[in-house]
Amino acid sequence: MAAPWEDVLRDRPAIQEAAAVAVDAALLQGVLMRTEGQPNASDVVNFAPFTLLPSAVPSALFEQAYAVQQDFNMLVDAISQNKEFLEHTLASTIKVDDFTARLFRIYTQVLEEGLAQSVFLGINRSDYMFDCGVDGPPALKQIEINTIAASFGGLTSRTVAVHGQVLKVLGKPQEASRLPPNNPSRGLALGIAKAWELYGSPRNIRVIRKRFRDVFEKGSLDEARRLYMDGQEVAVVYYREGYVPSNYDEQNWEARLLLERSRAVKCPDIATQLAGTKKVQQELSRPGTLERLLPGHAEAVTRIRATFAGLYSLDMGAEGDKVAAMAIADPDRFVLKPQREGGGNNLYGEDLRQVLEKIRDSPQRTSYILMDKIKPRPAMNYLLRAHSPLQESECISELGIFGVYVRRGSELVLNKAAGHLLRTKAVEHADGGVAAGVAVLDTPYLV
Ligand code: ADP
Ligand code: MG
Repeated sequence: MAAPWEDVLRDRPAIQEAAAVAVDAALLQGVLMRTEGQPNASDVVNFAPFTLLPSAVPSALFEQAYAVQQDFNMLVDAISQNKEFLEHTLASTIKVDDFTARLFRIYTQVLEEGLAQSVFLGINRSDYMFDCGVDGPPALKQIEINTIAASFGGLTSRTVAVHGQVLKVLGKPQEASRLPPNNPSRGLALGIAKAWELYGSPRNIRVIRKRFRDVFEKGSLDEARRLYMDGQEVAVVYYREGYVPSNYDEQNWEARLLLERSRAVKCPDIATQLAGTKKVQQELSRPGTLERLLPGHAEAVTRIRATFAGLYSLDMGAEGDKVAAMAIADPDRFVLKPQREGGGNNLYGEDLRQVLEKIRDSPQRTSYILMDKIKPRPAMNYLLRAHSPLQESECISELGIFGVYVRRGSELVLNKAAGHLLRTKAVEHADGGVAAGVAVLDTPYLV
């Protein structure tokens, strides 16, 4: 990838001036976050961390990522309706991973009772890096797909304006006009509105925010399993949390079960959350699996498979034994991933080797999957963070594409890519997202 800003990166006074403008532009555009010190105070905010300069993204890979998004929407939706596949794929995982097991139990319970929900809304984000291998041309490789609480659709709708202004201040108005427009919040909101419309609510859209605890205390179902909160019927439930064990105590699990049993459109329903697990991702890479899940969609299958990196099962047996031995012999080639979301859970290098050596003969190893490590080519940039000095860093980026779809019964009535997110981090950090304090918001500059 060409480094498009080499001239300005060396001009320290220009960089300093642009950084000051950038921070004010971020405040003005609402690129804001609550602070670590006061995470629950809405009257103490600062700018969300972001790169000073937009990062180069090969336009062919950018287009490829957009082009495969409707295929991924269709795939996730198909998995969520395939009980046999989910059961078979997660069988080994749920024996050792309590959290996935608990989600799976709700899934089974809801199916046994019979689904009351007939309209389905999916909002996901498929994340990629540009793999250069040893020294090849960059290739689009999927890191993972997030099917619950896929974040930053709102903030990233606002970073284009900030980076456009930075480029203008640096005397690059032409380049500023070439940043691709981006408004995921609009696309995602349209999906939610469509689900609401199909649910058939007679009134105007009203949004309420509740915790699982509130649902436990005040939520109820009527005889048709319509969901009520404070006496009002709820058409669509968007989960802002519920993807990590710490989001749940016993009462919160009960609330989740109540919501899942209801007619309301859940985004995502429990099956779609399970479709986003790393174990499912690994099973999808087995030869023949995509073809079975998407019969009659050969071109979609080819587009999807082209984005897969090497993924390996650690299930008990000869295949898993071989995979474990391979990773222990060459840990720097791989990433070891547990069934967790939210960043900071993966193992690399020496940590990977040590953990895998300890559990290589125990069923505990099946709570992980192994993945080839993707190696993007780094580029220099400045990361802007509140209370941090301006510092040049060697950086790598991760591109996410937001997908939104709505299904009524068996008919997909909406299936779209809704926008993108670029996150960038210094190369020394193996893991972690923006919320984890590692990556920062960025804007793609197509080259
Ligand atoms: P999470 O659900 O915690 O977000 P991810 O699979 O997205 O899990 O991994 C977290 C981070 O780890 C990614 O944002 C990326 O920076 C890094 N990462 C994950 N998989 C790979 C990989 N195969 N190669 C290189 N880096 C990876
Ligand atoms: Mg991730």
